[in-house]
Amino acid sequence: KIHEAAASDPNKVVFSFEFFPPKTEGGVVNLLERMDRMVAHSPSFCDITWGAGGSTADVTLDIAKKMQNTVGVETMMHLTCTNMPVEKIDDALETIKSNGLQNVLALRGDPPHGQDKFVQVEGGFACARDLVKHIRAKHGDYFGITIAGYPEAHPDAIGSNGLATPEDYQNDLTYLKSKVDAGADLIITQLFYDTDIFLKFANDCRQIGITCPIVPGIMPINNYKGFIRMTGFCKTKIPAEIMAALEPIKDNEEAVKAYGIHLGTEMCKKILAHGFKTLHLYTLNLEKSALAILKNLGLIEETSIPRTRPANAIQAKEDGENQERPTED
Ligand code: FAD
Repeated sequence: KIHEAAASDPNKVVFSFEFFPPKTEGGVVNLLERMDRMVAHSPSFCDITWGAGGSTADVTLDIAKKMQNTVGVETMMHLTCTNMPVEKIDDALETIKSNGLQNVLALRGDPPHGQDKFVQVEGGFACARDLVKHIRAKHGDYFGITIAGYPEAHPDAIGSNGLATPEDYQNDLTYLKSKVDAGADLIITQLFYDTDIFLKFANDCRQIGITCPIVPGIMPINNYKGFIRMTGFCKTKIPAEIMAALEPIKDNEEAVKAYGIHLGTEMCKKILAHGFKTLHLYTLNLEKSALAILKNLGLIEETSIPRTRPANAIQAKEDGENQERPTED
């Protein structure tokens, strides 16, 4: 289980990569090739997201199986409660269990498409805590369970001034502790760009008695529009100096990428200097920035390694149809 692996050598810095399910078959082939290359750098695990509202369930399940058994990396699958009656949740868990996965990221999920508020589906769960409880009740200790944590509080608690009230922030922490108490082993945080906010959050978690590992989620800035969209959606605070650095270069994709690598490196350095030993990289299915950051930190030697998949595997472009995400060669 990934939390056990992370704890096995407390002096070693470990890192992990998140991927999302591409929309096309070609995109999946391409992603698996990319994973081969990235896994050669020995991440402690990789994870695959569950599409909003369960929209990618079959693809996510299939990719999770291939990650675990073909790519050969310890794999964690995300699972949300949106549109998922308990039977579907159980099917998904049984499927990954029979495919050898032992790690799941238990989430409530966002509201179904076109709705503002999360609605509990009939026969389903209202929040991630109930999903954690269910997994523990049904599967005992078989799964390592990870949950999401929000250094700036969950977006629902963030007001028009971009901040959660102290009371909402505290309620969010209390709720997070209840998720851990329900049986979670590890917390991965939502993306953030103000490292001090993450450090304060981790400290606040410890103050209220959360003892499990807290892993910072780092999303390298790959392009300006994607960055603005993502931070807007997640209501993430963008420090003024980051906006000041990005504004003059926002139309120069290479310059934005280079800045994203620099910023990601500096954020990770600061986090590691505070004694953290784990870094989780939101790759957005791209490899250059994530690997460049790890190389800058001295955690990997080369950013490029030979492909291990046969040259005659289906050739596909980087998930080009997926307009939601940036691409790279
Ligand atoms: P919960 O932990 O259930 O709760 C979210 C917030 O709601 C809490 O922080 C709290 O403020 C409030 N709340 C809920 N229930 C209660 C309660 N009973 N009492 C008090 N407060 C309560 N989305 C996807 O669709 N697919 C993914 O694969 C995915 N992966 C993610 C990975 C990470 C690391 C993160 C941080 C987020 C991810 N998301 C994903 C987004 C996530 O689904 C949304 O942020 C969603 O709105 C909340 O999910 P959650 O599990 O944090 O919810």
